[in-house]
Amino acid sequence: MAVPEFQTSPGMRDILAPESARWRAFVDVFARIVEAAGYRQLMSPLLEDLGVFQRIGEATDVVTKEMYDFVDKGGRHIALRPELTASICRAFVQHRPPTPWKVWSAGSQFRYERPQRGRYRQFDQVDIEVLGSDDPYVDVEVIALGWEFYRALGLRQVTLLVNSLGEPEDRARYVEALRVYFEANVDALSPESAVTLQKNALRVLDSKRAQDAALIAAAPHIAEFYSAEAGAFFEAVQSGLRALEIPFRVDASLVRGLDYYRHTTFEFQGGTLDSAQNALGGGGRYDGLVESLGGPPTPGVGFALGLDRTLIACDDEGVFAPPSLNVDVFVVDTTGGLEALRITADVRAAGMRVDRAYEQRSMKGQMKAADRSGAKFAVIIGTDELDKAAVVVRPLRGERANDQSTIPRVDLISYLQKVLS
Ligand code: AMP
Repeated sequence: MAVPEFQTSPGMRDILAPESARWRAFVDVFARIVEAAGYRQLMSPLLEDLGVFQRIGEATDVVTKEMYDFVDKGGRHIALRPELTASICRAFVQHRPPTPWKVWSAGSQFRYERPQRGRYRQFDQVDIEVLGSDDPYVDVEVIALGWEFYRALGLRQVTLLVNSLGEPEDRARYVEALRVYFEANVDALSPESAVTLQKNALRVLDSKRAQDAALIAAAPHIAEFYSAEAGAFFEAVQSGLRALEIPFRVDASLVRGLDYYRHTTFEFQGGTLDSAQNALGGGGRYDGLVESLGGPPTPGVGFALGLDRTLIACDDEGVFAPPSLNVDVFVVDTTGGLEALRITADVRAAGMRVDRAYEQRSMKGQMKAADRSGAKFAVIIGTDELDKAAVVVRPLRGERANDQSTIPRVDLISYLQKVLS
């Protein structure tokens, strides 16, 4: 086959059936779990003013390098969303809902990254955020819902890492200590991390480059900088996780992408993926984001889980297979197709899944299509049946396959309901 002139852009994919049904099921499972915990869906636009996303933090790659931004026909500088938190905070400021505001969201995000397995330029996330509560048990609830979601998908090889960045002042003292430490060792850092260091020493800890690993491992630890309040907050989060019997590991290098994170940060890692792409999802507590978007001081905590990458983990673990898209019944009509039109409408109206062949194909061609459809029964109408106001019902699979019966047309629906139940 010749290569077509147009194909999807790098890092962007068509999601065909049955995978597309699996994506929908993924969001359905997520929605069921978080709605049962009081989270309500927010559908925000794919495009926002660039400034909304710039508030995520000037030192993050997502903002500085990866944004799809452009000036629209009205002269507005806008961007395709690279993540959901900023839009949710912008929506909070715009609508001022009562707090705690518990929301969930889902959809495509856009980042101009180098595409590879598990890393795309358009990818999907599901997300929850709680705005307006400082209770450490909200952090625990948020983490627990992520954990429950992975369990519901059937994933078993997920590791939960948690950390705390302390209060903003603790964090500031820590960042300064890190800066001094990395600057003293800048010659040993990768060139990329040396650049990052100029902007934000904390971000250097995010580096997954082998060259940086030893320096990062020996860097000062945030725990040494916690105030009493920050220590108590982190202890409350950990004891909450223990109370729910959710296994976790404290990882002091977990600082995550947002400049606004404080206190809790966490990440879910998949056990089957390469380390550069093993983050299935993560989040944390942030402060100042709502204010920077023009709202009142409002704490927030939430997470985003990557759909694409989590489904790769599901494939690796052999869980959460695509749902069956088979129909129940396939109608084969050799009398011109009008009967098939009537019967499919009746069977569909009775709540069964039904498909048919078109274009007056031969009996053989139609039976082949019936087989491909995965239907359990074929309903066959030829001129004989039409004359007698009857239909033939032929089981297509199982022990009774091909053991067909002729039944009156008027009894078809109740007959199918009986054999399909
Ligand atoms: P982040 O918003 O960067 O914290 O990412 C949250 C989750 O989204 C990650 O753990 C990934 O599962 C997913 N994710 C982030 N960037 C990408 C990408 N470029 N391609 C696929 N998934 C991504």
